[in-house]
Amino acid sequence: MCKTATINKIIPMSLVDGPGNRTAIFFQGCNFNCSYCHNPETIKKCINCGECVSHCPVGALKMIDGKVLWDENKCIDCDTCIKVCPHGSTPKTYEYTVDDLMEKIEENIPFIEGITTSGGECTLNFEFLEKLFIKVKSLGLTSLVDTNGFISLKSPMMEGLVKAADGFMLDIKSMNEEEHINLTGRPNKTVIENAVYLASIGKLQEIRTVLIEGNKNRETVENITKLLQPYPNITYKLISYRPFGVREEFLQLKSIEKKQKEELKEIAIMNGIKVIDC
Ligand code: SF4
Ligand code: SF4
Repeated sequence: MCKTATINKIIPMSLVDGPGNRTAIFFQGCNFNCSYCHNPETIKKCINCGECVSHCPVGALKMIDGKVLWDENKCIDCDTCIKVCPHGSTPKTYEYTVDDLMEKIEENIPFIEGITTSGGECTLNFEFLEKLFIKVKSLGLTSLVDTNGFISLKSPMMEGLVKAADGFMLDIKSMNEEEHINLTGRPNKTVIENAVYLASIGKLQEIRTVLIEGNKNRETVENITKLLQPYPNITYKLISYRPFGVREEFLQLKSIEKKQKEELKEIAIMNGIKVIDC
């Protein structure tokens, strides 16, 4: 197992990353390339090319032994380094061990119910997460995973993570295979299988779909809610698309009309799924 994981951001207390107050940990690196990603710089890991270093206006970046080091205390968050990175990445990350992260999490006790790991795609670090969640549980806290569901959670290598996690929040970008590939660069077969599997073992905390004008939104909402009909208590977040942070070439994407969203909510409710309008 890799002893460290690359962390993009830690939000000590978040009310929007799962139920209750949680420490949210965002991992760097993703196996999707979603057109509407709000943090596209989290997709690829930095390759230490050094290109961004001279562009930092306050000297917060240094190249030491072939690696770019970021000084958070000097950084003024201008994001110039992200804008100039030819690789679409960011130097603003840290390598954390499980124990380093536990120290950060423990600072937030007793104000949090637990942690949520997100990204990027946090399940790429599945062994690291398993170890982290076991330690989190020993403190009486819960662990949730925010995932794109591309790695099969039924596979033997993921068994430990599924056991250690209290629940999963799963994005289902589209139930239409072709559309899913267009949106993310990857097929949706495993994502759908993971949704049903997690629901069947009582670990599907929440599903989400981002609603974009022109997408097959009705097909997605109808099919996923029918598939999950046998499993009550699942929450479905229907999220209106907002263009914050997206790459310039995708700024033209729009959310659907309020009336269309109401119709989609009704379909989900008719199929017995609780809806949260976001
Ligand atoms: S975001 Fe921080 S590290 Fe990046 S260029 Fe600006 S000051 Fe430098
Ligand atoms: S963040 Fe980008 S530009 Fe800076 S060192 Fe890493 S890959 Fe190179």
